[in-house]
Amino acid sequence: MDLTFATICEIAEAVKTKKISAKEVVVHFQKRIESLDGKLNAFTSRNENAVKDAEMLDARIARGEDVGALAGVPFGIKEMFCTKGQKTTAGSKILENFVPPYDATAVARLKNAGVVVLGKLNQDEFAMGSSNETSFHGAVRNPWDLDRVPGGSSGGSAAAQSARLVVGTLGTDTGGSIRQPASFCGIVGVKPTYGRVSRYGMVAYASSLDQAGPMVSSVKDAALTLEVISGFDPQDGTTSRKQVPQWSQNLNSNMKGLKVGLVKEYLTAEGLDSDVQKTVENAVNELKKMGAEIVEVSVPLTEYAVPVYYLVAASEASSNLSRYDGVKYGFRAEFKNLSAVDLAEFYSQTRGQGFGAEVKRRIMLGTYCLSSGYYDAYYTKAGQVRRLIMEEYLAAFRQCDVILSPVTTAPAFKIGERISDPLTMYLNDIFTTSTNLAGLPGMSVPFGMSKDGLPIGVQLTAAHFEEQKMLNVASALESVSTVKGKHPHVV
Ligand code: GLN
Repeated sequence: MDLTFATICEIAEAVKTKKISAKEVVVHFQKRIESLDGKLNAFTSRNENAVKDAEMLDARIARGEDVGALAGVPFGIKEMFCTKGQKTTAGSKILENFVPPYDATAVARLKNAGVVVLGKLNQDEFAMGSSNETSFHGAVRNPWDLDRVPGGSSGGSAAAQSARLVVGTLGTDTGGSIRQPASFCGIVGVKPTYGRVSRYGMVAYASSLDQAGPMVSSVKDAALTLEVISGFDPQDGTTSRKQVPQWSQNLNSNMKGLKVGLVKEYLTAEGLDSDVQKTVENAVNELKKMGAEIVEVSVPLTEYAVPVYYLVAASEASSNLSRYDGVKYGFRAEFKNLSAVDLAEFYSQTRGQGFGAEVKRRIMLGTYCLSSGYYDAYYTKAGQVRRLIMEEYLAAFRQCDVILSPVTTAPAFKIGERISDPLTMYLNDIFTTSTNLAGLPGMSVPFGMSKDGLPIGVQLTAAHFEEQKMLNVASALESVSTVKGKHPHVV
């Protein structure tokens, strides 16, 4: 078996049936990280016990134990997730030396299913960004073109996965952070329905939008990983008690009679790159050939998705990030004589030095939106428009099963190109944020290539808890994807 390009399903099967040991798999990928990550900067820290963890799994398999659906599969975990005994920085100086005493539920569930964690993956600071350039650990490079960004905020996950430094990764998505980097790096990324996956132990950015999800190399791997991490968790009151379906067993790429919606407003979006447009058109044609029916739907209020998202997300962030005060844990500014410093000065020095520019910008914006006198005009209003956007989607899903759209306006951009202009950066999220505002499941599946040889994903969205439909269309598209079999140069 060619381990480098093997799927999660193939590796788990081979480990379970003792065709290969978990240790051999882990050592193979550790070597790849060693030789390639210097170019990418995807890893922020490694799990020093990975080989030991693999040996323990092998011993359990030798005793005849069932070690789980993801037996011996090496994973990388975004810095947003707490990992017991291993640094969790959220890409920020303020958590530079934070070592959590527990695993996030999603991580615990992966480990219980037999995953071996190889290390933590770079990201934008507190998941605020679309390019991975706001990270305290430095920018990540796109394996398809080292001068370009891998996307963000889950840029380390996308780069590590597409360069095959791991077999699976976990990301988080608040406004597109799984789907956009997945598209830029040619991998599959799924943001499930809000409430599908527990947020317990995930560093909070904007709690009403944050969701965890898989960033992997095939639709089936995504379905299987999602099954493992989904489901009710008493530690997160927003998780759903709905049964978790066996998505991976029920993948069905028969498109006959399926209604695929195209959002009118999206196809005429200003500044849509011609390669992206062509990729979506090709996907539409392939689905038609397979028997799907194409229907036009309208979601006019998506025009407000980006401003509404940035008001809601910044407001929640300003509240969530108030916990980083230098008292309980995390970075604290140094003072010559601590007892002589007043509290305001203590906070201001600690937070001033601990947070980066983008995070400060959002805390200020959010605090402004939530302040008395402005609250109703901004935060309340944003909440009302958010509700209307969701209702427009619900109406659209009465006319179609899934919505097909671009993920981003253009393929991966150059490092440094947008970082000094926050508005241009925010406009990146034009196709992804409404999914989070409405709580819907969404995913990116690699489908086309740009003239410059960069992968381009297409986005699929479904009604709440209808992940199966979305995954089915993704698997149909995957079978005719022009990205299939192509790999980044760095590999
Ligand atoms: N790019 C968006 C932002 O900067 C989305 C980030 C995310 O999904 N975490 O907020």
